[in-house]
Amino acid sequence: TTPKKYIGRFAPSPTGKLHFGSLVTALASYLRARSQAGKWLLRIEDVDTTRIEKGAIHSILATLENYGFQWDDEIIYQSKRSNIYQEYVEILKVKDLIYNCICTRREISKNKKNSLSGESIYSGKCRNFNNPSFLKHSQRIKTFETIISFHDLLRGDLTQNLAEDVGDFIIWRSENFASYQLAVVVDDHLQGITEVVRGSDLYFQTPRQIYLQRCLNFKTPIYAHIPVVMNEFGQKLSKQTKANPIIKENARSNLISALNYLGFDYGVQNIILETTKNNNEILEKAAMYYNLKNNK
Ligand code: GLU
Repeated sequence: TTPKKYIGRFAPSPTGKLHFGSLVTALASYLRARSQAGKWLLRIEDVDTTRIEKGAIHSILATLENYGFQWDDEIIYQSKRSNIYQEYVEILKVKDLIYNCICTRREISKNKKNSLSGESIYSGKCRNFNNPSFLKHSQRIKTFETIISFHDLLRGDLTQNLAEDVGDFIIWRSENFASYQLAVVVDDHLQGITEVVRGSDLYFQTPRQIYLQRCLNFKTPIYAHIPVVMNEFGQKLSKQTKANPIIKENARSNLISALNYLGFDYGVQNIILETTKNNNEILEKAAMYYNLKNNK
């Protein structure tokens, strides 16, 4: 049998324009995919329609194009895939893994926190209540004492006991759309993603995703979580921390900074010298010298 073709992806949430941190993530996943002669797919994670910023999708796509990214296949929009996610909830329901939860965010925020991720651990309070569906509710998946371990290409091994470290987590939100965890797992599966390269802010969420993959009989991709870019105050660059959007005018210098951030033994300057003025050519050239493991 021939080895499976590499399929990677970039999955931005259109909550705002791209900033330097998202550029680094996009670039790492792109260079990795191209260095493996693989495909690079684009997925717009607009499942949480309450957080979408007007114009952000257009701006993200235009920026990626400007910076020389070329994606394969059709772009997937999660906001159009509710029916698909619903089908997988039904499968989980048949397995008696789902229940209605009427706890409020505020209530849950008083729970014990996971010491590594800082997230509140759900106590399982609603699991035995059979809450009727006419009440405003989310749907959670039962996690039991399941132990999940995985090896991350960059961050090493992580083991979680889901009941103790996370609790039963949300599959379907009370606003009536799929949770990030469900949508990302279904889409990674349906798009045939073999390796996920993304920001390390999602490292501690990965065991939840692996658990869902097991419940749904999906293959688990390889994971590589790259360090997120911090601002001068030690905060992750994000919309919340008011990261500046990257603009077309500075494309070349931002690209060079992002390449430097990822780290090249060969030297970013040498890569630039070997290319013409075209950003895509810089990316393709950089992919030839890219080593994911420089990215520690
Ligand atoms: N949509 C997520 C974000 O923008 C990324 C999800 C993922 O890569 O799994 O942070």
